[in-house]
Amino acid sequence: MQVTVVGSGYVGLVASACLAELGQQVICVDSDRAKIDALQRGETPIHERFLPELLARHCGTRLKFTSSLADAVKSSSVIFVAVGTPSTESGDCDLSAVEAVARELSRSVNEYKLVVQKSTVPVCTSEWVRRIMVLNGAPETSFEIASNPEFLREGTAVTDFLYPDRIVVGVNSKRAASLLRDIYRPLTNGSYVRQKNAIPEPDEARIPTRLIETGARSAELIKHASNAFLAMKISFINAVANICEAVDADIEQVCAGIGADARIGDRFLSPGIGYGGSCFPKDLKAFRAIARESGYDFRLLDEVIRINEEQCRHFLRKVRNALWTLKGKRLAVLGLAFKGGTDDVRESPAIAMIELLLREGCEVAAYDPAAMPKCREWLQERVIFAESAYDAAESADAILLLSDWEEFAALDLQRLRRALKYPIVIDGRNLYDREMMAQRGFMYYSVGRPDAFPRESPEHVSQLKKAS
Ligand code: NAD
Repeated sequence: MQVTVVGSGYVGLVASACLAELGQQVICVDSDRAKIDALQRGETPIHERFLPELLARHCGTRLKFTSSLADAVKSSSVIFVAVGTPSTESGDCDLSAVEAVARELSRSVNEYKLVVQKSTVPVCTSEWVRRIMVLNGAPETSFEIASNPEFLREGTAVTDFLYPDRIVVGVNSKRAASLLRDIYRPLTNGSYVRQKNAIPEPDEARIPTRLIETGARSAELIKHASNAFLAMKISFINAVANICEAVDADIEQVCAGIGADARIGDRFLSPGIGYGGSCFPKDLKAFRAIARESGYDFRLLDEVIRINEEQCRHFLRKVRNALWTLKGKRLAVLGLAFKGGTDDVRESPAIAMIELLLREGCEVAAYDPAAMPKCREWLQERVIFAESAYDAAESADAILLLSDWEEFAALDLQRLRRALKYPIVIDGRNLYDREMMAQRGFMYYSVGRPDAFPRESPEHVSQLKKAS
């Protein structure tokens, strides 16, 4: 099938490469010419595991790039829309890019087209898109709108797309349902994973994938409700972690106990410095606004957001507790991306943390395996960009772990200790075993777990006294 994907960002590009991998002929369109030029040159503009392989496999054959939506649409029967839907100043969802695409599409509809919203949008957007297209001259019977929300996570986007927990299609006709079922068939009948050179399935992959067919409005709500629920899980466990700190309990043990309940599950129960990224913060605000507009005051979401905003300040208090005064201290910050495995720094709690530290007068030496180019321009004058974790740690008063990159969980601790001025590690992602860190001579602070100190240190002795 010939499909168009509008938008070549984190979702659009991954969807394009994966749909090509599933056997479709894909044209990926973006209004950003520079992005399209880079993609046509064979560059991979975002950091995402397996994406370079898929682009190399399909570019020029099953996958093409263009900045002309009209050309792409002419020959496609299905058009996925994956443009950005950021927050407005007031927290609503900014749908101007979705509307711009709808207007442009209405001029290019030459025969039946299925327009599929992959962007995260408020409930009833499908109806608005339909209305805009008709107002702009698209014949009413020449197109249909469907909703197919995307649940991929940055860092594991390709495997999330190819081995999703579920595929949700919100459709209003059998024809639309059948087109989308055809597109995703290699996933729903399990044939993709058996294909030679298939991208390997992750642990716990649910094969074959379940496809859930709903109405368009329900599909739109499923996406917002899912993200709100996941963000709530993070804020919940962060709040419990803060209580653990106050009473000297261990959040890891608490999580093991909570997560063993099948009704709760152990995934997404990792305390830290709060959620961030381009989705949760804006989707929560948008969902809150939608609820308000529909007459429901969803105060639970206010609290989820408040706990998250407080979490960075809570971590700053931890840094202060470890270092006493902050002005003039040199801190090595590992991690700029909002989480490990991605170069996305949008709404990154690590960046929020850096801003707080700079305001306190700290000198920050930062390192991130992929995200430095994305924030070099605006942090350039204020932060030292290091070549490696060890380079960042050189003569630093302490090291702060702020993104959960795999490589940050496997540092050469001896080398790190030699580089640091003081052996202080403040771990915002609980990447290390606390007792092991103490044995290796570090003063180790983490989230929701008792601090750990080397055996003979005065801090260790006073901790023992306190406990007895
Ligand atoms: P992005 O900002 O990375 O990419 C959006 C792309 O759309 C940009 O390349 C932009 O140039 C292009 N674009 C904007 N207007 C256009 C137009 N009129 N014509 C053609 N191209 C246009 O955004 P993203 O992170 O890929 O997110 C896209 C949507 O998917 C959002 O609604 C987001 O909430 C949702 N989503 C994102 C994720 C994620 O992890 N990033 C996961 C699930 C859902």
